[in-house]
Amino acid sequence: MKKSYRYLLPVFLLLSACSSTKKVADSNAASITNNGKVWASIWQQRAAEYKALCFQAYNIAKLRVDEGVKNPGNKPLAIVTDIDETLLDNSPYDAKRALHNQDYTDATWKEWTDKAVADTVPGAPEFFKYAASKGITIFYITNRNENERASTLKNLQLYGLPNADDEHLQLKTTTSSKEARRLNVLKTHNILLLCGDNLPDFDMLYDNHPSEESRVAVTQKLEKEFGSRYIVIPNPSYGDFEGALFQFNYKLNNAQKDSIIKAKVKTDR
Ligand SMILES: [Mg+2]
Repeated sequence: MKKSYRYLLPVFLLLSACSSTKKVADSNAASITNNGKVWASIWQQRAAEYKALCFQAYNIAKLRVDEGVKNPGNKPLAIVTDIDETLLDNSPYDAKRALHNQDYTDATWKEWTDKAVADTVPGAPEFFKYAASKGITIFYITNRNENERASTLKNLQLYGLPNADDEHLQLKTTTSSKEARRLNVLKTHNILLLCGDNLPDFDMLYDNHPSEESRVAVTQKLEKEFGSRYIVIPNPSYGDFEGALFQFNYKLNNAQKDSIIKAKVKTDR
């Protein structure tokens, strides 16, 4: 008996493995988009190259701070930063929903942000603390909703981030455009840098859902700003690049999104 069990165990394990592999494969089979998000999330979580790119961005930002404090101008200096995928790492949320082939919803997103446990983007806390030590005020301009205010502050305070208080946190109002909120900061401060992962974090030219071609044209026009006043953090998982890819049609199902991806992606013949 003992001997036969020994032979049966590997067979059982093999069958179990096949069954669980099939389950994962089935749940993901429908969507290139969601499989892509799993891949993007694991890159964000595991690749040293992701960390290196974030360090590169925040090292450049630090140089700009050192230059900026020498000539502060007529008003106190400020840095305006986005939060998600600029300062906080939400890849566990994206990875979980994508693995289950679920789309983003405000409800599941809020369940995640309510936990206030997001890790930080590499180099970000050190950079913002450095800037604050030079007398620069940090303003957090995010499109999180007002009902996420307490959890957002709690998550920022977890890492001792400077100016993590009601006065310096500007959440989404009636519009996702950040221009009015940037202008609000400009009433009292000179903005030395803007940090973000999504191009509307930087300039109103990216507002109102421009096409992919327009986004590229604006980016070429603003080329000199990147690494100068604009500090960009990589986010391959989500953002307006995705909206533009699908022409900001939020009603598309996964099969329709897959068709667009297959039609647009360049492949070898
Ligand atoms: Mg963001």
